[in-house]
Amino acid sequence: MTTTTTTTGPTNGNPASASTTSLNHLAESLRPEFPLLSRELSGHGLVFLDSASTTPKPRVVIDAVSHYYASCTANVHRGVHGLGDEATQLYDAARLEVAGLLNAAPDELVFVRGATEAINLVAHALALTADDEVVFPASEHHANWLPWRVRAAPVPIPIDGDGVPRWEMIESLITPRTKLISVGHVSNVTGVIAPVEEIVAIARRRGIPVLLDGAQSLSHLPVDVKKLDVDFYAASSHKAFGPSGVGVLFAKRERMAKFGLYQVGGGMVAVNGDLGIGELVLRDPPFRFEAGTPAIEATIGFGAAVRFMRKIGMTAIRAHDVQMTDYLLRGLGTISGVRILAGDVPASRRIALATFVVDAPAMTQENVARALSDMFGICVSGGFHCTHVLHARAKLDGTVRASPHIFNTTGDIDRLVEAVAEIVG
Ligand code: PLP
Repeated sequence: MTTTTTTTGPTNGNPASASTTSLNHLAESLRPEFPLLSRELSGHGLVFLDSASTTPKPRVVIDAVSHYYASCTANVHRGVHGLGDEATQLYDAARLEVAGLLNAAPDELVFVRGATEAINLVAHALALTADDEVVFPASEHHANWLPWRVRAAPVPIPIDGDGVPRWEMIESLITPRTKLISVGHVSNVTGVIAPVEEIVAIARRRGIPVLLDGAQSLSHLPVDVKKLDVDFYAASSHKAFGPSGVGVLFAKRERMAKFGLYQVGGGMVAVNGDLGIGELVLRDPPFRFEAGTPAIEATIGFGAAVRFMRKIGMTAIRAHDVQMTDYLLRGLGTISGVRILAGDVPASRRIALATFVVDAPAMTQENVARALSDMFGICVSGGFHCTHVLHARAKLDGTVRASPHIFNTTGDIDRLVEAVAEIVG
């Protein structure tokens, strides 16, 4: 926890420093690509600081989706006509794009509805029972809590008063019944990056697979699943500039080969004849786990979003993120009456996200978020962010979360800081 009182925050009228200029350079060059950002809200120019919830979409993504509808609407992997060929080509290109981003092989990627479905798919495919233990931080999003609660025996790693997992306890929680360690790559509440290397080293020594929930890392950090050596990686397109309704599960080839069937239906069997007789001839992974018509337009848009990020470069995105984190924390730190969760964790170990509690009498944290929108045209999250256990254990009755991304400037953060200061005042 921190209540930093730095004197170099953005509200004290300091002229823009050289680093602030370089921080804004990328954002200013990208802003015109996002149509959403030019609108007004509550009579003010929109300040969008809610990317951890879902990101705005760049024009290339919107165009990719409408191109599919306007020019080549057809089913994929089924059509025996030219439009089907074009749609299939665009759809398959998206898988290659995501594979390139993650350094995975295309057949190690299953397209799903999002991180939630990816994690549920693993829970289902591992055929866990109530005797099987899954170790995960108590701070996790419900998407990485409830599948273990419903399908297995949940073993939450205790957290501190700011919601940061006590990683030193992980080894003591592992038993012969532990079947999986499942960890958020980046916390959607604190923005803190998990020590993946250490966790994987422990898991390898004990022969346990590791799932990384990448919902908050895909668009912020360079992710190399081979280098991280995780068994599973789950993420959503809509938090990475792509459409909603699609996401991805990476599973190591040897793990996916052992998966039980998930959903069954069209496109995942390779039989002609009577499905009721003899053995089903399943298509190879990943198609075996992609029954039914997929979210074609969303997946094509996901491919465009990944191309967009790769063109900017994940290293450049990360560099912007680190500087933005610093600016955001320093700015919020100037306001007495604001407590930032895990605010003492340095920018190098977190993404550009700050969750805080505003001391405003007679206002809930949801009220604060609402007021930021209604009075100042600023979008943030307010409430519990699908992490009720974290909030209960950290004795927090809700929080406010600001989550900038590459299109945000220091001016956006200044507006947030001024508005929060006014609310506190
Ligand atoms: N995991 C984390 C850390 C998240 O922040 C979220 C969404 O907020 C999810 C999982 C679930 O993602 P989705 O709702 O896109 O499936």
